[in-house]
Amino acid sequence: MGEQNPGGGKKPAKAAKRAVKPPKPESRTALVRRARRINRELAEVFPYAHPELDFDNPFQLLVATVLSAQTTDLRVNQTTPALFAKYPTPEDLAAANPEEVEEILRPCGFFRAKTRSVIGLSKALSEDFGGEVPGRLEDLVKLPGVGRKTAFVVLGNAFGRPGITVDTHFQRLVRRWRWTEQTDPDKIEAEIGALFPKSDWTDLSHHVIWHGRRICHARKPACGACPIAPLCPAYGEGETDPEKAKKLLKYEKGGFPGQRLNPPQAYLDAGGKAAPPLGAAG
Ligand code: SF4
Repeated sequence: MGEQNPGGGKKPAKAAKRAVKPPKPESRTALVRRARRINRELAEVFPYAHPELDFDNPFQLLVATVLSAQTTDLRVNQTTPALFAKYPTPEDLAAANPEEVEEILRPCGFFRAKTRSVIGLSKALSEDFGGEVPGRLEDLVKLPGVGRKTAFVVLGNAFGRPGITVDTHFQRLVRRWRWTEQTDPDKIEAEIGALFPKSDWTDLSHHVIWHGRRICHARKPACGACPIAPLCPAYGEGETDPEKAKKLLKYEKGGFPGQRLNPPQAYLDAGGKAAPPLGAAG
């Protein structure tokens, strides 16, 4: 914590004078080593990293992932208990009255479009897949409203098949770390996939996304409290003062509850707290 970056962040005047040599381009081998080391270090910081959507089965995870567009996982987790209590299976949701579903989904935002998506999705599951979520990428992406990102979340976390989840945090962080310069999610997925063994892909996605949510934020990354600062070429893009940086930390790193109402036991054992239900204080 609070270590100096390789460029020496504490003495800006001298650092500015010294910063005449452009950094040497990194070899492929050095990049692979650095990327894997970042992943290993993040695994130590977030040993309990997990998908932050509550779910009991692949259907619930698929629906929750679709609902999570343009809102927080916390808000989805606070909304889905009522949805799944009333419509536990794809058949139930396929036959639902859209207005009743809209009422339940209202807190997630874009609730009309999301209602159409989850009912359409449930119809396709009932009609084309016998009411089961398929465990293959090529089938999942045929479902209405399901792209590669959603499909990989479901494959990685409900079926144990390796998948890289290129969400907004993942895209931002891998570019900050100069793992890739691509901006297209499919190309990012391919380039990052090539840096790691397949068996690491799902956990890697969790580590990167957790780091993005808790420490390496979009607007103000907490560089001064970042455990991988010595490995990061973007050190200094955010707050470098350790005390000020600490105040930027979110969720359990900042002493607050997580996003899941029902987090895994490992998270609770490590001192993490469950998120409050909808409407509860805090
Ligand atoms: S930008 Fe800052 S917070 Fe993000 S990984 Fe680099 S050093 Fe850490």
